[in-house]
Amino acid sequence: MFDSLTSRFSATFTSLRSRGKISRNDIETACSEIRTALLESDVALEVVEDFISHIAEKSINTLATLQSGANQSGAIFDIVNASLIEILGGQARRVRFSKNPPTVIMLAGLQGAGKTTLAGKLAKYYADQGNTPLLVAADLQRPNAVTQLQVVGENAGVAVFSPEAGNGVGDPVKVAKSGVEFAKAKQFNMVIVDTAGRLGVDADLMNQASDIRDVLNPDEILFVVDAMIGQDAVRTSQAFLDGVGFDGVVLTKLDGDARGGAALSIASLTQRPIMFISNGEKLTDFDIFYPDRMASRILGMGDIATLAEAAKKAFDGDTSAKLEDKFARGEDFTLEDFLDQLSAISKMGNMSKLLGMLPGAGAMKPLGKNGNFDEGEIVRTRAIVESMTPAERRDPKVLNGSRRSRIALGSGLKTSDVNNLVNRFSAAQKMMRQVRNGGMPSGMAGKGMPAIPMKKPIPKKKSKSGNPAKRALEESG
Ligand code: GDP
Repeated sequence: MFDSLTSRFSATFTSLRSRGKISRNDIETACSEIRTALLESDVALEVVEDFISHIAEKSINTLATLQSGANQSGAIFDIVNASLIEILGGQARRVRFSKNPPTVIMLAGLQGAGKTTLAGKLAKYYADQGNTPLLVAADLQRPNAVTQLQVVGENAGVAVFSPEAGNGVGDPVKVAKSGVEFAKAKQFNMVIVDTAGRLGVDADLMNQASDIRDVLNPDEILFVVDAMIGQDAVRTSQAFLDGVGFDGVVLTKLDGDARGGAALSIASLTQRPIMFISNGEKLTDFDIFYPDRMASRILGMGDIATLAEAAKKAFDGDTSAKLEDKFARGEDFTLEDFLDQLSAISKMGNMSKLLGMLPGAGAMKPLGKNGNFDEGEIVRTRAIVESMTPAERRDPKVLNGSRRSRIALGSGLKTSDVNNLVNRFSAAQKMMRQVRNGGMPSGMAGKGMPAIPMKKPIPKKKSKSGNPAKRALEESG
């Protein structure tokens, strides 16, 4: 999402770092570049002006205290980072749980913002943490909103309270009220209420949302907003803040080509924290919003913390320990290990998204023909490996022509695809062996690659020669 902003920040800092000593003029140029970049990313004008005057003043002050250009550019980078974290809301904020359950969360926002989808994501997220959420279908306006919530609830494995069919029929205020009563009676500890939006802000919408708020007395009102609507996101959030009020913001569709303006403007203009982000249509495309991680991504430093969490979740301890053990034992990395790793990687989610979390990844993304990361490659590789017998996966050398044709047929691909995979795998396996033996993979030696510290291989038992003279020689040392 922040690709263009990130590359502009990177260019500005590359230029600052190249200075032997930074002048006031350099800071002014950098600030003007950052200003243009923020405005082009749809950040609200007053947020941009505040941000720029803040970083300009602080940066100019550092010139007097620091002498070398490197120290100065480092300090300016820290100032920009801290200011970005601040406009993104400072600290991550979690949902406040009520002392008297159920905790009631009301979702508000325009039609199509992603409320119903988010209701399912929130419910799954909290259910996975041991809570018992109940979804309440109080959007009786949008066609099929009730059915959609029922489907979302079923997918998330949570209960849905939906006494009315919706599509314009039924009283949403009554549904909201009886939803909470039902949750109390059945001891759900959390209620998530989906409400109706409109295509634009209007009095009807605000009145209905306010009436629902009054009967619910919610612990949290979350304002859900589509990040792709740019400057409109700011106007809409202001209207909801005045008309209904809210405690936190959820930004949706961050997987799209939004330029990031909403994320950077809303928290500071409404003084309400962004609490969650939604970045896809699947139930798991959902994250807690961390201002510091987002600032880090905007500045091109990636988001290693989120990546590490995703990896920890996907690679269970057993798989990693098994592989490390094999490696230390001097055993070969096989196609079975490869398959285990592929399964773990696909559990981590969308590959382009993961790559976006690597520092400087924008420039390094391996792109397919259409300019996107080729996720199909993983699917094809899996299909091929899964069409092999366990023996073939352990030792691809047995793969003769007829076995390769059988695998191609089984995976629905061509023999050349199978050959291609086997060749690439053999090269990877060779590289693993070289690394394990303490060497550098060929082609990398002397190119400044650091040596990779590895557990010492456990020596295999030495074979003893059957020839008595040779064996005597071996045994003598
Ligand atoms: P509501 O009217 O506010 O309840 O909006 P919906 O939950 O029905 O969402 C509107 C559309 O946006 C649906 O097609 C959703 O699948 C889609 N959607 C919701 N959240 C996201 C998201 O984070 N990313 C993408 N790409 N689509 C989303």
